[in-house]
Amino acid sequence: MSGKPQAPAIEGWYTMEAETRLIGSCCKSCGTYFFPKQSHYCKNPDCESTDFDEVELSRTGHVWSYTNASYQPPAPFVAPDPFEPYAIAAVQLEKEQMVVLGQVADGFSVDDLKVGMPMELVLEPLHETEDDVKVTWKWRPLSH
Ligand SMILES: [Zn+2]
Repeated sequence: MSGKPQAPAIEGWYTMEAETRLIGSCCKSCGTYFFPKQSHYCKNPDCESTDFDEVELSRTGHVWSYTNASYQPPAPFVAPDPFEPYAIAAVQLEKEQMVVLGQVADGFSVDDLKVGMPMELVLEPLHETEDDVKVTWKWRPLSH
């Protein structure tokens, strides 16, 4: 890779350390977790809170579902150009038990995935700009 600095493809959605974590929010009233983070109102229909704590979410979880994306994803997901099909995993986070969608790390396809398989969060480059390399979160099978 080039010597350009890495920058998040989407600002404020994940930390930029090697062991990246998604940044979500937790409702101060009912304790429900959200990703991407909520800051205006709680989506829990039984809760009227507008107070949230910003929290870093679990960086591991288990595959809940997965699919092959054979179409261009909607924003804010950015696909390589020219477009190549890739796998998307829905991973249930270890602690929060919420499901977070993400692309599967380079080198892995749906053939490598199984429901219930442990996964971890990684950062991988998406594309280069003149100034930096944009990175985003992906799910990678946890090796044992
Ligand atoms: Zn709430």
